Amino acid sequence: MVHWSPFVVSFKKQYPWIQLAGHAGNFKAGEYGKILKKYCENEQQCLEWLNRDILRPFVPHYFGMVEKEGETYNQMEDLLSEFDSPSIMDCKMGSRTYLEEELVKAREKPKLRKDMYEKMIAVDPNAPTEEEHRQRAILKPRYMQWRETLSSTATMGFRIEGIKRADGTCNTNFKKTRHKDQVISALEDFVDGNKNILKKYLVRLKELKTALEKSEFFKSHEVVGSSLLFVHDATEQAKVWMIDFGKTVRLPCSQILDHRTPWIEGNREDGYLWGLDNLIIIFTEMVQN
Ligand code: ATP
Ligand code: MG
Ligand code: MG
Repeated sequence: MVHWSPFVVSFKKQYPWIQLAGHAGNFKAGEYGKILKKYCENEQQCLEWLNRDILRPFVPHYFGMVEKEGETYNQMEDLLSEFDSPSIMDCKMGSRTYLEEELVKAREKPKLRKDMYEKMIAVDPNAPTEEEHRQRAILKPRYMQWRETLSSTATMGFRIEGIKRADGTCNTNFKKTRHKDQVISALEDFVDGNKNILKKYLVRLKELKTALEKSEFFKSHEVVGSSLLFVHDATEQAKVWMIDFGKTVRLPCSQILDHRTPWIEGNREDGYLWGLDNLIIIFTEMVQN
């Protein structure tokens, strides 16, 4: 291993950084080993707490906020920097990907949305009701809830957002990856059938589950739209981290979640641990087969 030689470091500095989800302009390269994400106060508070929590080994280290070219950013650890030509997967956790407060807001001024109707029929011309077809428009809350049923979000508590393999191929077209066998074949492809890598991911997922079940942060937050970032490389180093806390919100004092109870509007349950249980079941099956 030559990771620590200064020459390799200066070479790796120019290594292309890969972003699998989100808006292209949201990230900037930081100093070596760090990245900058557009500032979000909510995310900052989560990262600060998480860096003091039992979950610390499973989140990027947080280095505070920085100003660059008139923009404010959260500076955090680049989780790719210890890998060589990594393969990466972003897996969005939870049984819904919008906050309860977003649903409430979407209902406040009910407005028929033609754009959402168009998006819906582009995916499934049979999805709208007769009335929606007549209006050629739908309401936003209806669209938000329908969208979750397309992928494995509603049925398994997680969905694949994107995969980039070491050979450069990239796939972010998993919006309709819903069934367990589809998920398994995407994962097989991601690890190239490598059982050692699958085993390492499985160990890490189980460690994460143990930490989540003990975490003070986790029990007191509704965790929505957050992802697990899977990273491995040809040396068979394989790790998983929690990322993206823009929509992770603190519960009112004394309220706690178990993250497994099915969501009923008002209970704020997010299905995060249910999704992780399902991922662990899938990885376990894949290791055994
Ligand atoms: P969205 O809310 O649409 O998912 P976002 O703008 O909140 O996007 P993130 O989900 O935090 O952005 O990150 C987008 C992508 O950037 C991830 O899928 C991952 O590929 C990469 N990424 C994010 N944080 C890190 C990190 N600390 N280290 C390495 N890669 C990261
Ligand atoms: Mg994200
Ligand atoms: Mg986000």
